[in-house]
Order: sequence, then C-alpha cells, then structure tokens
Amino acid sequence: MLNIGCHLSTSKGFMAMGRDALSIGASTFQFFTRNPRGGAAKAIDQDDLAAFLLLASEHRLAPLLAHAPYTLNACSADENTRRFAAEMMADDLARMELLPGNLYNFHPGSHVGQGASAGIELIVAQLNALLTPQQTTTVLLETMAGKGSEVGSTFRQLRQIIDGVERKEKVGVCLDTCHVHDAGYDIVNDLDGVLAEFDAVIGIDKLRAIHLNDSMNQLGSRKDRHARIGDGQIGLPALTRIINHPQLRRLPFYLETPNELPGYAQEIALLRGVYRD
Ligand code: FE
Ligand code: FE
Ligand code: ZN
Repeated sequence: MLNIGCHLSTSKGFMAMGRDALSIGASTFQFFTRNPRGGAAKAIDQDDLAAFLLLASEHRLAPLLAHAPYTLNACSADENTRRFAAEMMADDLARMELLPGNLYNFHPGSHVGQGASAGIELIVAQLNALLTPQQTTTVLLETMAGKGSEVGSTFRQLRQIIDGVERKEKVGVCLDTCHVHDAGYDIVNDLDGVLAEFDAVIGIDKLRAIHLNDSMNQLGSRKDRHARIGDGQIGLPALTRIINHPQLRRLPFYLETPNELPGYAQEIALLRGVYRD
C-alpha cells in the first residue's frame, strides 16, 4: 500500500488533521509544529491529542512528519538566532514525545556567508546538544535546493552533518524531490544513479521520508518553487517511477504542492492509481 499524505494546516488541532487526512484518502500527513515563521507554539490540547492517537491507531496513520518552522536556522551567523533555533527545536522535540515514534524534519539552515563547513559545525553542535538517548522521535535533515547560502543541497554536506552527530540512530534524511532536482540531481533521467550516489555518500538506510513535489524550474536551477504533481519539470512519469522504486516504495510520501484539500485528494488518487501494489 502506498503510504501517502500531504501537508495540513495545524490550526484546528490533531483530530481535525486526522479527519482531513482520512477524507482525502491519505494514510499520513505532515504538519507544522508551530507558525511556520516561528514564535510560541500553542499549548497542546490533551483531549484532542488522545482522541487523535486513537484515530491514528485505528486507521494505522503513521509515521507522521512534523516540520520545523522555516525561520529555524541552526547555523546562523547571529548568536541570538542560533539560540532561538535551539530553543524552538528543544521545545518541538519535547512536544513530539507526546506523539511517540514519529518524524521531525528541519531545514539544516543557511550559513549566511560563514561558509558551508562553519555552518555544518554549528548544525552538528545544536543536534549534539539536543538529541537524547530516550527520545522516540527521529530527526530528519531535509535535502535543500541550494538557494542563497543554504546548507544541505548536496548529499556530501548531509553526510558531513550526520558524521558529526553522536546519536546517529536518531537522525535521518527527508528527500524533497523538488529540492534535489533544483539542486542538480537528475531524478528524471537517472533516478537509479541518484539513489546509488545517495547510498554511497549517506547510506540508503538513512532515507526515512520523501517530500513528493513537482518543480516549476529546471534541473539545477537552485530555485525551490514547488509545482503540482505532473505540472512541472519533473513530471508524472518520473514521479511514478519514484513512488514505485524498490528502494523508495515503502517510505512515507508527503505532498507539499500548491493545493487545498480537494487538489490534494486528486493528487493522492492519481498517485494511488499509478502505484503498483
Ligand atoms: Fe521543508
Ligand atoms: Fe520539502
Ligand atoms: Zn521547498
């Protein structure tokens, strides 16, 4: 069975997200841990969460993917921004333990002129300060498109981060199809080659989730503009090969395409139709 969902709005609570997911034929979903531009997280409603956990186990919704706010920049040149990033991530990871055993994805960050290796050191330091042996959440580094001074647009940089992390069993990678395409990895014409490179550099066992998006821009454009499935430069045939690839087909897929619920329902139906059970 294809395990697929989409990004849902967190504002109405977990039960509403669970119901929305089921209503569009999804078997999982992604949500922001708080306002995507950062700031204080809303207190979790315990009754809502308990009802959701029941719904999730009934319908075998899992794993869920929480997405950190975009403003979280663990490798900023500014100490206050880094402290804010560490506080947000610590708070997010504590809250994630109320939903045990799920995934938490973050953008490695932008080094803003310090250079990638200085950025990587700062990201490693934050993860080493926050990851604990008790946590049940796996923290995922997202593959980035490489706009501006983004860290994480090459498999090599992600490997360097993981190399520095002490609790390697607590980290993995979320591959965003729009981002890797825009970063120059040719998943349209050479998916096998890209996955072989991922395996050689990072290890395919570290790949834990896929953000399934088409891209408005060309291979290597370093732009990061998501398109609807089949409406972009990646296209439906390549995305069909991705969801069916033997090394990918059991992973959870999350759509982050420009859609409201009815559009997501259509994309999920389309992808279920081309998935080979
Ligand atoms: Fe992201
Ligand atoms: Fe993404
Ligand atoms: Zn993106």
